[in-house]
Amino acid sequence: MKAFRLVSDGRLSAKGYIKGEHVWCLPGATCPKCKTTWGAAGLEYPATTIHGKSANAFKSGVVDWKTYQRLKEAVETNLPLILPGTHFGPIIGSFQGGPVELDFNWLRPWTLLVRSKARIELATVLREQHLVEPQIKGSRESLIEIQIEPRCQLHPQSFVADSGKTCETCGRNPQRLVQPILEQDSIPKGIHMFRPRNFLTIIIVSQEFVEACNGARLTNAEFEEIPIA
Ligand SMILES: [Zn+2]
Repeated sequence: MKAFRLVSDGRLSAKGYIKGEHVWCLPGATCPKCKTTWGAAGLEYPATTIHGKSANAFKSGVVDWKTYQRLKEAVETNLPLILPGTHFGPIIGSFQGGPVELDFNWLRPWTLLVRSKARIELATVLREQHLVEPQIKGSRESLIEIQIEPRCQLHPQSFVADSGKTCETCGRNPQRLVQPILEQDSIPKGIHMFRPRNFLTIIIVSQEFVEACNGARLTNAEFEEIPIA
């Protein structure tokens, strides 16, 4: 089994770019245990809708711990991980500049919008993923966001030794990355695209995913093999 980190192709430059954000954001908070004020990056559920009166309170910023917990309880419970700073709902935004020419469009290194035509070419490897249409003004090209969930774990040797432990109360992981090494037993079956629970800004894909992209000659995706231990 092989695993790869998905990144943009540094040799390409897009003529246009997408400016936008997911509809709802669980605010950051100060943890009563580790005393850190923080919000996670890379935890995004575009397919999840926030219902009810509290939806208006889901915006970036910092709230007190009690408010954070109340808002967290308003989110559907079957998601694998919810932390301060978690994003929900489709991306709303606008396209600026030239036409969409690349298949993989990176809003951030951990947020990906793919040309809809790639949905057909990647149908087999995206079978188990939620696909969400963003609302992008000014783009003639239709795009999809792939919900990339935290479904695996990086090996402890991926991090600087003694750089701390995940806080049991708020879930913050203070560890500093040296090199990602995927924990063998944590690799999910039947899913081809996921993130490490303990380092959310990395996107990991399977060998089948790489082969599907290369077979279809999709642009602006590069794959760096990562070790498995
Ligand atoms: Zn904490």
